[in-house]
Formats: sequence, C-alpha cells, structure tokens
Amino acid sequence: MTSQDLYPVSRLAAVQEATAASGLDALLLTPGPDLRYVSGYQALPLERLTCLVVPAAGEPYMMVPRLELPAAQASPASRLGLEFVAWDETDDPYEIAAKRLGPAAKVGLADRMWAMASLRFRSAMPGTEQVLAGSVLRELRMRKSPAEVEALRQAGEAIDAVHRQVPGFLRPGRTEREVGRDIAEAILAAGHETVDFVIVASGPNGASPHHELSDRVIQAGEPVVVDIGGQLHNGYCSDSTRNYCIGEPPAEYAAFFEVLRRAQDAACAAVRPGVSCESIDAAAREVIAEAGYGELFIHRTGHGIGIETHEEPYIVAGNDEPMEPGFAFSVEPGIYRAGAHGARIEDILVCTESGGLRLNNTPRDLVVV
Ligand code: ZN
Ligand code: ZN
Ligand code: ZN
Repeated sequence: MTSQDLYPVSRLAAVQEATAASGLDALLLTPGPDLRYVSGYQALPLERLTCLVVPAAGEPYMMVPRLELPAAQASPASRLGLEFVAWDETDDPYEIAAKRLGPAAKVGLADRMWAMASLRFRSAMPGTEQVLAGSVLRELRMRKSPAEVEALRQAGEAIDAVHRQVPGFLRPGRTEREVGRDIAEAILAAGHETVDFVIVASGPNGASPHHELSDRVIQAGEPVVVDIGGQLHNGYCSDSTRNYCIGEPPAEYAAFFEVLRRAQDAACAAVRPGVSCESIDAAAREVIAEAGYGELFIHRTGHGIGIETHEEPYIVAGNDEPMEPGFAFSVEPGIYRAGAHGARIEDILVCTESGGLRLNNTPRDLVVV
C-alpha cells in the first residue's frame, strides 16, 4: 500500500468541494493531522508559517518558509500540482496569505493550529470569522477508505505482536518503568515509527485509566493493565489494551473482570451501520451497571482512530451520529476500583456492512503470567 492510496491526489478536490458546500470561504491548514490528511505532507510544526490554503473556489496554494521549500517540494504535497508560495524571513506570511485569498467572511482553521498562528490570522483578516476546519474535514476523516482500513489493520497487527511479548516482560520485582521500556522497544521493532503511549498500571495504579509508568515494583498476585499504541510510518495509529496477572488473581478481581469481558463483547456485537455511536456505549454500560459496577466505569466507551489516536467519532452518551461503514474506533470499557485495582479491554474496530470487524485479535481473557 502506497502513500498514493492513503493520501490520494483526488482528496484535495473533495475537500475543496466540501469547503464550498459548508459555506466557508477557505480552509487554512497548518502542520498537523488535518494538513497531512489533505496533502500527505507531514510538515514540521514550527513558528514559521507553513499553511495550505484551500479556497472554496480558485486554486489552492501553500505558504512555505523559503528554507522549508525543498522539504515541501520533496513531500507528497508536490503531487497535488499546487503553487508553493515561498516567503522570506522579513515577509509577513499571514498578510501575504490573506491578500491572496481576498475578502473572506468565514474560514476554517486546522483543529490543531497553534494559537500564535490563529491570532496572527485574526489580525491579518479582521472581520473574518474563524471556525474549526474539523467542521468540514470530520465528514471525510471519519469515513475511512479501504486503503485506510488496511493501514489500520496493519497497525492492529503490529500492536498485537507487542501484546504477545508482554508476558515475557512482566515479572514480579520489575518496575512498571522497566517493563514499559521493553514494551516501547518492542513497539518500534514491530514496525511503528513512533511510540505514542505506554501504560503499565500495576495493582492499585490500574484504577487510574491514564496512569502511564512509575517506579512501582510489580508484585506477585497483582493484575496489570497494559494499554499501548504507536504510529506507523504511513501515519496510521494503533491502540490496544490487555490485562495481565502475575499468578492467579484475587477472587473479587476475577469476578469483575468477567463482567468487563462480557461488556466489551456486547459493545462490539452492537456495532453495525445505522446504530448510533451512543448505543454502543450504552451496550457496554448496561452490562457493567447490571452487575453493580456502573459507577466504576468512569469514561466513554471509545474514540475514533486514524492518523490521530483520538479523533471522531467518539463512542459516548450524547453522540447520536449513526455508524457508517468505514468508521474506525476503539471499544474500551473499563472498571476502576480506586485504591484496589482496575481493568480495561480495548480493541480497534471498523464498521462494515455486516457489523463490527475487530482489528485486534490477541486473547481478551485475563492473561496469567
Ligand atoms: Zn484513553
Ligand atoms: Zn483508546
Ligand atoms: Zn488505549
């Protein structure tokens, strides 16, 4: 699979059309996931302005600091046939961009544009309303193409390969940090370009959903939550959580883990086109609440994933967006008993015509090591 498949040249025209349809005059895309999605260019985020300007009508162009021009020309953005407007150190690139664009009532700024750039654009274009480019791009980014699904499948396989090695890293007497270092190495060795996060939460630390690593020494008999992810060279991300136990778990833990296991299955089984995102959250929550642990499930069931680990759609109460084939997201219910322990089971799924397809496939049962 090539970057041509993942970041097709045709996307720019689709984005331009969507921009016009939503009544915006232009999108202003500085380095970050929105720019990468539209152009394939993974530009360095710098204080000097790089910005793809996609007007609703007319030719798109990219503002580029002169010293970044060779990098931009060597990037996939060069396939788009757009003009690179190189600016020099003493120029004001915001003024140049605004002048070229002309009068604009409303523009969409990349969701992750730095405040220093958005405020400079505001000064250069007083009277122009600024909204998030995400209001236009979400519709496109949420619906993964077959090539994007394939990239997410590869990411899933890569992180599964790491989870298979985790039992070999977990030994009583080692610290979370020591285990985390081995996992980070394995994430890179499995084909990721970067390590996005490594959560090794032993014993009571498991009750904090985003606990990362500490110098806590892992003890015999303790459950350990391991939630890991990285980004492939092609931009697509992995994210999967499994639960391990150093020897047999305490009886109370085994009971609540079984509830979680059923909840995660119920939510995955609820995935199909047309159902709301919140109904998938409800499917997991119902099982956990029925077992009396409702108050211990303290976060949403999941998040979309693609070239960002967390993106739309969010699997959360209040989101009545209907599922569509091509939506990709996590299903990761958790139960957290503060001061004692916690557990979370997480798979990435893609919605297909016939239901949810899991992209993570290592055993979901508690792994006793
Ligand atoms: Zn999370
Ligand atoms: Zn996640
Ligand atoms: Zn995760």
